[in-house]
This record gives sequence, C-alpha cells and structure tokens, in this order.
Amino acid sequence: MAVRLNESMVASAVDAEAFAAAEQLLSSAAVGEVSEAGGGATASVRAGRGRGVDVWVGVVDGCLSTECECDVERADSFAGREDLCIHAVAVALRALRGGFAWSSAAVPPSAAVLAPQVRELTEVAEKLSRRRLAVLVATFAAADPRLRTRLLVEAGELGPLTQADADQLRRSLSAIAAEAITGRWDMHDVVTAGEKLIGELETVAERPASIPAMLLAEYAAGLWDGLAAHLFDDWEHYDGVPEEMGERVRRVHLHLCEQLQPDPGELTERLDRIISKAEVTSCLDAPHEYVAVCG
Ligand SMILES: [Zn+2]
Repeated sequence: MAVRLNESMVASAVDAEAFAAAEQLLSSAAVGEVSEAGGGATASVRAGRGRGVDVWVGVVDGCLSTECECDVERADSFAGREDLCIHAVAVALRALRGGFAWSSAAVPPSAAVLAPQVRELTEVAEKLSRRRLAVLVATFAAADPRLRTRLLVEAGELGPLTQADADQLRRSLSAIAAEAITGRWDMHDVVTAGEKLIGELETVAERPASIPAMLLAEYAAGLWDGLAAHLFDDWEHYDGVPEEMGERVRRVHLHLCEQLQPDPGELTERLDRIISKAEVTSCLDAPHEYVAVCG
C-alpha cells in the first residue's frame, strides 16, 4: 500500500537550521541517486571530505523512520524529533521531489533479513579497513561487469540506462544473436551467445530501472526466443537449458516492470506480440508471474 508523505511533514520533524543544512546538501549535489530499498528510499550522501554515508528513509508504523550511518556516532541520542539527521532530511527531500512512491509498511535495512551466508560475510568484511575493502571490491569489479555496474550505481556515478545506451545495446545484442547462427555453427555457439546476451541484460538490471531498460529487456527476450528455438529442437542434449536461461531474461523483465509499473494494457499488448512471434515458446510467456503487473 502506498502512503502520502510531504515536505511539510519532513520540515516539522527538524528545526529550521537542520532543514536549511539539508537543502544546502541537496544544492551542492552531495546527495546521490535515490533508489528503493524495503519500501523506503535510500541514497548515499557525501558528508564532508568525500566520505559517503548510507541513508535510508521510510514510513514505518505510520511514522517517518530513518537510518543513517552517522547514527553510529550519535547512538546515545534519545529517539525523538531531533533524531532526524540532515542526511536523512536531504534524502527524504530528494526522494519526495523525484516523486518517490513510499510504502506504508517499509522495512529498514537493519531489520532486513539477510541470507545467512551474506550476514556472515558482512561481519567478516566489517573487520577490514575501508581502504582494504575498497581495493578488494575494485579488484573484483574490474573483472566483473555486473559488480562494476552495481558499484558505480551505488556510488551515484551511474544512472539509469539512457535511450542512446539502449539503442547501442540493441545493436550489439542483435549482432551477438545473429552471429551465433551464421556460417558454420553448432548448439554450443547458441548457448554461448545466449549467456552473453543474458549477461548484458543482467548488468543493465543493476542500474536504476528505466523505460529504455524495460523495452530493451523485451527486445532481448525476442532475440533469446529465436536462439532458444534451436535448443528446444535439440532437447535430447539441451533438455531444460532454454527454460532456465529464458527464466533469467524473464526475471530481469519482471523486476523492471515491478519497479516501473508500466500501463498494464500496453504491457499486455507488447507481451502478446512477443509471445505470438516466438517460433517455439517465449521466455516471457508466464502469465501467472505477470498477474501483479498486468492486472
Ligand atoms: Zn546522518
């Protein structure tokens, strides 16, 4: 369920001085891109000397609730109105001005359930110095496009896919698909091309959701359906493979649809077109999974 939150509610939770300081943070571009987390808004805020603090703002039990890394330094402060730090106010304002859709039952990051292994590894990572942790992440990100994209997005250095990015990706994805079945080719080439295509799509999904990204996912689904038809024909060797790979395409598309809430009628129309074009079956042909977004 969505809930209404406005600027005067935020303003009434802090004194005028803190509100002005938050405005100052916003106008100096210290507040990173806002994204959705647990039904609330999250962003990184530069808090002096280039250091970023993670901030989360959401509506919990009808009240504005915030979590900020700077809280660690003010852990003994009484949970009252002065508990809202300027970082949280700045993120709330940026989210409000960007038309953020607040959930009425948000879950703050501290209450989010992490997979046991992620929790354990987080505790290990917290033992490292910032510098060592940064080098470790950067080393792996340099070799992994998906992690690299995620890192840039979380640092506020990469935004949503633009139309120009999407156009370029369309061309390179269709080249990948065409090349796989040109000249002398075998099923292995089809799987390799599919992996490449889906990998590109999963990397795009690490960026903030956008309409060009959603339409790109639909285009890629059509390309994958064409490649998958060959694997379905060779079911003796590739039993289950096209379904599994197609599911990854669908997961990206569903995730983008959930984030963007496109017009249900238009989405249904586009899905019908993609599904009817598929030679064997389409990876987006899973009506029960689309109930929430297609209505
Ligand atoms: Zn703070």
